[in-house]
Amino acid sequence: MVTIKSKKEVEQMREACRITALVYEVLEKEIHAGMSTLELDKIAEQIIREHGAVPAQKGYPSGIKGVPPFPATLCVSVNDEVIHGIPSKRTIIQEGDVVSIDLVTFKNGFHGDAARTFIVGKASKEAQKLVDITKQAFFEGIQFAKPGFRIGDISHRIGEFVESHGYNVVREFQGHGIGRQMHEDPGIPNYGKAGRGMRIEPGMTLAIEPMVMAGKPNILELDDGWTIVTEDGSLAAHYENTILITENEPEVLTLL
Ligand code: MG
Repeated sequence: MVTIKSKKEVEQMREACRITALVYEVLEKEIHAGMSTLELDKIAEQIIREHGAVPAQKGYPSGIKGVPPFPATLCVSVNDEVIHGIPSKRTIIQEGDVVSIDLVTFKNGFHGDAARTFIVGKASKEAQKLVDITKQAFFEGIQFAKPGFRIGDISHRIGEFVESHGYNVVREFQGHGIGRQMHEDPGIPNYGKAGRGMRIEPGMTLAIEPMVMAGKPNILELDDGWTIVTEDGSLAAHYENTILITENEPEVLTLL
């Protein structure tokens, strides 16, 4: 179901989004070669709890029999890992790594969802371009996130932009409405036909999230039941914000 948020609900939702953004400000400063992805996770969880909020991904059910709920605050996906990587004390971040982080914070009954990809230390040209294009794809897409357009216009622009740079979007996962639930309607694929899908209306809050692979458009799921990797081992990047649809330009709630 699509939920249109009232002014009051939007005000309540801002706080979870703001905390998510704050966490990324800290993580960007703290991330370095030699630390484990679990250390990053601990930093994020501490900030969230200090703000009286809850890490919403922790304990999130897998929906698959035999696969335990997600055990951590952050999804941390390194290099060829695309999304849903599980933080671990055994995963040590190396110089030049492409580290995609996804975080949903919950406060006041609402969720704030965002993802960032950081390159640790000196970036290769290839990695930098992939990360830049992935981020830009979000901003290309949200040019259509306003009344008068449809969800397919956002999807189409993201896919077109990514492919015009020789990359591929992940087709098996998509952006989504967000609010009291982490995942609400509509689904927002990162590819599609312009002019199709649901009409965009003020009061919608949407998590728009290009997931981009430098190589072929095929993914695999690891045996842990969560981690998604590129089949060909190519690098992947992820960029996401929660936005509010207004009468005019969208407002990005998870940027400070
Ligand atoms: Mg997310």
